[in-house]
Amino acid sequence: MMNTEQCMEKTEQYVLHTYNRYKIALEKGKGVYLYDADGKKYLDFAAGIAVFALGYGNEAYNQALKDQIDQVIHTSNLYYNLPLADAAEKLVKASGMDKVFFTNSGTEAIEGAIKVARKYAWLKDKRTDHEIIAMNQSFHGRSLGALSVTGNAHYQEPFKPLIGGIRFADFNDLESVKAQITDRTCAIILETVQGEGGIYPADPEFLKGVRKLCDEHDILMILDEIQCGMGRTGSMFAWQDYGVMPDVMTCAKALGCGIPVGAFVLNRKTAENSLVPGDHGTTYGGNPLACAAVSKVFDLFEEQKIVEHVREIAPYLEEKLDALVEKYDSAAARRGKGLMQGLVIKGKPVGEVISKAMEHGLLVISAGSDVLRMVPPLVIEREHVDEMISILEKCL
Ligand SMILES: *Cc1c(COP(=O)(O)O)cnc(C)c1O
Repeated sequence: MMNTEQCMEKTEQYVLHTYNRYKIALEKGKGVYLYDADGKKYLDFAAGIAVFALGYGNEAYNQALKDQIDQVIHTSNLYYNLPLADAAEKLVKASGMDKVFFTNSGTEAIEGAIKVARKYAWLKDKRTDHEIIAMNQSFHGRSLGALSVTGNAHYQEPFKPLIGGIRFADFNDLESVKAQITDRTCAIILETVQGEGGIYPADPEFLKGVRKLCDEHDILMILDEIQCGMGRTGSMFAWQDYGVMPDVMTCAKALGCGIPVGAFVLNRKTAENSLVPGDHGTTYGGNPLACAAVSKVFDLFEEQKIVEHVREIAPYLEEKLDALVEKYDSAAARRGKGLMQGLVIKGKPVGEVISKAMEHGLLVISAGSDVLRMVPPLVIEREHVDEMISILEKCL
């Protein structure tokens, strides 16, 4: 067994240094708590970046994975597999959309969505210069297509040239979106709630406006629900609370609750007018183990009434965070929806608050340059909110 020090040393020796990691090595989890290699306990308000919605050590979830491992882990997409059929049905029914393609990550779901949009437009006019409108301060992933629609110059610059035909508009500014529309626009892509950019929920009027623009111009509306989806904002998918439906939705993060899996989901119009055999593929995507996870996640969401629980607990979290904003100058504002909350930190680096919180046994993360992000497991209770607040009070 390694202790934290040894683990850090070995990691830095062999793993490519693309992350400045916090100096703890997490070893195991139980409920909403994680334990590091030295046995220290942490209340987890990060959930592996909005992934582990069900909490750690959920027995039914773990058992479903163990059972599937004993059946078969991988078979490829050349054959049918049972968990794939179940997982797809549950995702389609939960979204009210039509067809799903499973991927291994969020960024791959975005790649698929971009291909769908280009193919849809190409079938109409056979042009090869279609454009996509994306948002400033957005985040859609690190592969080149997803990076191309990520509105962050710092992430993009060293990797240019990116894919062409991307135009940027301002989130929550419909006029700026309108200004970017041309006769070549094939899609508008946005997060329903911007995550990495600093926790900005879409204004209802903005989202409805984008939907209307897309309808008027036969442009596909792609909603990235990778972070805000799967119950986090108090509905299964964040857009369901806005009364708009996208043409394409991307999912990942909490979709498998820890097993690497993503998906892009299409409405009927898009499914019937885009990808066909030969257009897209993946060796792993939709494999039996990943789909057994997805399938069980949907079952447990229903059995444990997870979405209802989020709706019940979120106002309590918001109230407690608002009280911090009242009380401390360093907590300047709160933004967010459901269990996706951001606290704007003023007067000190957000990293300092995060490090202090970690010393006191609380895991939180940042978003943007000055936002403390809280994306806890969706099963937190009031006592965990109270515990989190009392630790944060020591850090502000
Ligand atoms: C995390 C994230 C992605 C990328 O997902 P990966 O699984 O890291 O590739 C894309 N979009 C949003 C909104 C995300 O939060």
